[in-house]
Amino acid sequence: MALSPPPSPQSEVRTVCPYCGVGCGVLATTRGGMVTSVRGDPDHPTNRGGLCSKGQRLAGTVRPGDRLLHPLRRPLDAAGGFDRGRTWERVGWDDALGDCARRLTAIQAEHGRDSVAFYLSGQLLTEDYYVANKLVKGFLGTNNVDTNSRLCMASAAAAYKLAFGSDAPPGCYEDGEHATCVIFLGSNAAETHPIVFGRLLDARRRTGARWIVVDPRRTPTAAAADLHLPITPGSDVALLLGMLNVCLAEGLTDTAFVRRHTDDFAEAEAVAAEWPVERAAAECGVGGDAIREAARLFGSSAATMSLWCQGLNQSIAAVSKNLALINLHLATGQIGRPGTGPFSLTGQANAMGGREVGGMATELAAHRKLADPRDRAEVSEFWGSGPIAPERGLSAMELIDGLLDGRVRALWIAGTNPIASMPDGTRAEAALRRAELVVVQELFHPTDTSLFADVLLPAAGWAEKTGTATSSERRVTLAQAMVPPPGEARADWRIFADLGRHLGHGAHFSYEDAADVFDEHAALTRGRTCDMSGISHERLRREGSLQWPCPDRDSPGTARRYTDGVFATSGGRARFNATPHVPPAEPPTDEYPLRLTTARTAHSWHTLTKTGKVAELRRLDPGPILEVHPLDAATAGVADGEVVELTSRRGSWRGRALCTEDVPRGTVSASFHNSPLWDRGAWINRLTPAALDPRSLQPELKHVAVRLGPARSALDGLLVIGGRAAAPLAGALVGAGVLRLEAAGWDTPAPAGRPWCAVLDGGSDCREWLSTQGHSPPRDADASGRVAGRDGAYAAGDGVVT
Ligand code: SF4
Repeated sequence: MALSPPPSPQSEVRTVCPYCGVGCGVLATTRGGMVTSVRGDPDHPTNRGGLCSKGQRLAGTVRPGDRLLHPLRRPLDAAGGFDRGRTWERVGWDDALGDCARRLTAIQAEHGRDSVAFYLSGQLLTEDYYVANKLVKGFLGTNNVDTNSRLCMASAAAAYKLAFGSDAPPGCYEDGEHATCVIFLGSNAAETHPIVFGRLLDARRRTGARWIVVDPRRTPTAAAADLHLPITPGSDVALLLGMLNVCLAEGLTDTAFVRRHTDDFAEAEAVAAEWPVERAAAECGVGGDAIREAARLFGSSAATMSLWCQGLNQSIAAVSKNLALINLHLATGQIGRPGTGPFSLTGQANAMGGREVGGMATELAAHRKLADPRDRAEVSEFWGSGPIAPERGLSAMELIDGLLDGRVRALWIAGTNPIASMPDGTRAEAALRRAELVVVQELFHPTDTSLFADVLLPAAGWAEKTGTATSSERRVTLAQAMVPPPGEARADWRIFADLGRHLGHGAHFSYEDAADVFDEHAALTRGRTCDMSGISHERLRREGSLQWPCPDRDSPGTARRYTDGVFATSGGRARFNATPHVPPAEPPTDEYPLRLTTARTAHSWHTLTKTGKVAELRRLDPGPILEVHPLDAATAGVADGEVVELTSRRGSWRGRALCTEDVPRGTVSASFHNSPLWDRGAWINRLTPAALDPRSLQPELKHVAVRLGPARSALDGLLVIGGRAAAPLAGALVGAGVLRLEAAGWDTPAPAGRPWCAVLDGGSDCREWLSTQGHSPPRDADASGRVAGRDGAYAAGDGVVT
């Protein structure tokens, strides 16, 4: 009798959640090379065993069916370029990277070193970020390496540096447990940072802390507030200046702190004087008494902490918004003590790690400055590289401009989906089409962006690679590999190191493992404000997470900075900054009378490449919903539940109206998750503008003037029949007007009375299927049944949308 094989042993591995900047510790169980379950790590100081809905379902994201398994490359055309009308072919790693290296070298030789660019991600681990940044700035000789963190926390980073002389927040999550007043600005932490929010809720039951929420919408966070200020989108600076005005008038400032520890108070005072409460109230659309109450709570509380997120950061006035809030903390002395301080919640799991390595076009490694010749010389000597260029590189949106006007010819994209997340998305599509070389290094294929790639490189993901991530509170946690990557996927840092080898710099990229990379990175931080030279993988594995600064192996790390009132500026004094109010780039007009603000929802992550694969999370996502005030809906001639169309100067969006008084009159709100791959009609970033904050270069994703009306020809659903490219290709081809896409395999018959389309994905399957269904192949198909086109091809069945 045959014996069944013994069950493979189970083991539990300590790691960190890869989604948001909260940085929750995770214990993951593996069996037979698979992640079978996860639970919150009870010993991790951030989450103490808790996980939100996304973290709880991490196991379901490790092996979804659309993993990119092998390097792929478009066939070459007669001129030696990539034939974008034909599908990718499998190639070996050496072929793929060798070809990329030759092309990058040739493009730089012909068009200059800044003709190539890299676009990274806050989802990468610090080691990935470090090697990419070293390769591009040190060895490719261009500072054109930016990251999707530009869309997320660039404004907070810029403000911290201007005010305190160093990036990153002064305090930590625990401050929320000591605060007697907490103010949330542009943050729906209840849904976007739920574990931190839960900690604050628990603490509030004990401390009785008063909560203020500044948000145009009545979010779950706002619903929990003692005082909700539903300000007009974009009016935050006016509010904060009005609050400072009240603090000045009512003696709520801490003059001793200001005198001892700050400079330039007069500049902030002068601007605040222009914003008496009634003027601020008129600008913000809230009552003057509410502003006074908020100022009194902020200024008179024993300990006030502020938390903010994209509501402040994604704006053309974002740095001013951040600085106006920091000014308020400095003026009232609400900083440097437990329970106080300005605290930006980072969106992505490792946005902070990217900042540490200087993985942005405007930064240099370990909080050094590109503009400082001594900093550049230190880093290039440490790396053994050529000189580092003194000029900043192109930021995320500027890379799009550069591709469109020919300054940039090659773009290497790692771990991010800019077609879905960039503002003015169709412009981003046009930019990628113009590139001579697009390399996409990704876990998944297809994504909205991978469809534009000439070369696709499979990357290892969560649970498949080791490295570190730094959370919002400067806490470094080790992410551990526990299962092998599928197919030929490799850790991102290793892909960049291998590219370095193919570019002829192998001696500088000969790392043994991720711990080796981390040690080099940590050594470069020695003596810097983000000093983590006391941290190593081995120590993190043994002791758990640590907060920087952590300058030696005996240091327990640092929960709070500036507790002695000495800041990281050259003179040790914090700086006030003048913060004039600047209205949004696109104010409402007669043609576009409403303000659209975009938001993240509780159970979805960014462009759905991970959470969209987890059925339970997908079911919890509300889909393309537009929150609209009932009176605005009536004015626009639409009703609750109806399919509506939103139009900005750049394009249209369709979704279902949700009439609610949770949004104020004149403002509508939609989530940003639905990408063109899922539903081109519900692609909200087709509407948003590419206007930038001049200091942080962060785009204004949170405010766009729109017009609302009934959908002209809405289609509720489309069944896409085909192979694995079915949904993305149909989504890309169908265009606006489909609210739900559903994909099915070739074993599915053509449905009667329901729109469908079949995807010709390069093989004979579609021809056979069409034949069994009694349909002829489309007239313009070639002999193999394929219709040429960049994004694949399709055949339209009866009653089908084209
Ligand atoms: Fe992960 Fe953030 Fe949820 Fe924590 S709060 S489990 S880090 S997504």
